[in-house]
Formats: sequence, C-alpha cells, structure tokens
Amino acid sequence: MATRETYTLLDGTKHATEVVVIEGAQSGPTAMVTGGIHGDEISGYRAAETVSGWDIAQGTLIVIPRANTVAIERGTREGTSGDLNRLFPPGKKPNSELAQALWEAIERHDPDVYIDLHRSLGIYNVQPGYVGQAIFPTAAGDALEHARDVAALLNEEKVPWYMPLHKYRAGDPMPESGPLIANKVGQDRDTPAYIVESTSFLLDLDTRTDWTTRAAEALLARHGIERTGGN
Ligand SMILES: [Zn+2]
Repeated sequence: MATRETYTLLDGTKHATEVVVIEGAQSGPTAMVTGGIHGDEISGYRAAETVSGWDIAQGTLIVIPRANTVAIERGTREGTSGDLNRLFPPGKKPNSELAQALWEAIERHDPDVYIDLHRSLGIYNVQPGYVGQAIFPTAAGDALEHARDVAALLNEEKVPWYMPLHKYRAGDPMPESGPLIANKVGQDRDTPAYIVESTSFLLDLDTRTDWTTRAAEALLARHGIERTGGN
C-alpha cells in the first residue's frame, strides 16, 4: 500500500499550493507531475488532481496539482508575474517567488522524470502556432522515444478514427534556451521531462482531461512508476 502525505508550498502566501507525496511500498524512481502552471487550463490541473489520488507500487510520485493558484482562481493563463511558464531560464535563477519555490521543490525531491500537464487550443503542425495534441520531450535520456510511444498509445486507445487531426504527436525536443519549467528540468538537471498538450479544439473538458490523465499514466509507467489503484 502506498503512503500519502501532503505539505503546502509557500504556506501563508497568496501562492500557497498543495504538494502531494505518494510513496510506494518498494523503492524505485522518483517522478514529479504538475498541473495548473497556466490557470485557464482546467483539463491540465484536473488531470494532475486525479494523478494525486493514485496509489503506486514502487518509487515516489510527487504531484503539485494546482501550481499557479492565483491564476487558477482568476481563470487566466497568467498569474501575478505574467506567464509562469516563461520564468524558468535554463542556467539562471527562476524569475518570480512562485517560480523559485517550484524550482526548490524540484531540487528537494530530485525527480528522475518530470511531467507538466497543459491544455492547448489548436492542432499541432496543422494550425500554425498551435501546439495541441502533442507530447514535447526534453533532449535528455530517452524522452523523445517515450514521447513517441505514448503518443502512439493514446492514438490507439483514445483518439477516435474519425478525428485523424487529433492524433497526438511527439513534438521536437525543447530548444536549449526555452524558459519553460520542463525545459529547465531537462537542461539544468539532464532529466527527461515532458509537456503534455491536449487541445480544447472540438474536445470537451472531460475528454481532454481523460486523455491528459492517460498520457501521464503511460509516461510514468515508462519511467518505472506503475499506477496500482486510486480514483
Ligand atoms: Zn499551458
């Protein structure tokens, strides 16, 4: 049976947010999952909340379901310091109090894999400038191969045949200097990390939440964290 503990990051501040630490009975790798970096991406933080209720057999799973609480409460992409996912320059200090606290949590838990759950708007490589349905890996480890495998699994299991444009793809590895939290994990810590982007284009909230949750489950399994129960 897994044990579950929670603590609050930035307790007593407007950015206070819950961190859930799930320990499997057996030792194993450590994974970290975040949702709600963008406050208007409901399917991302709902999926992360679901993940925070899972049991695992081995390893440690740390989930921060609602990373940017101010933005979530406002229902906006941006929080108090602009777009939180542009405040993590590789090789430099994160650029806000919240960004620094999230980064300190990553350093404290020292994950072997990091997954950041988002909601996108359009279709990747079809509608210019849009990133939905894609799994973007870092260049570290086997992340690109795992991103391709999990995209294929989602297309097989979840995406209906009559929605070919909605097939997930593995995006290109993130560029070296991109100031995204997942990219900073990849660049500064040489750790496989992923951004999962599920689109709101023609997909309802429950469907894209379900697909995002399945992406997280499959990526975790490929990194040695098997879900054994939970809602
Ligand atoms: Zn986002």
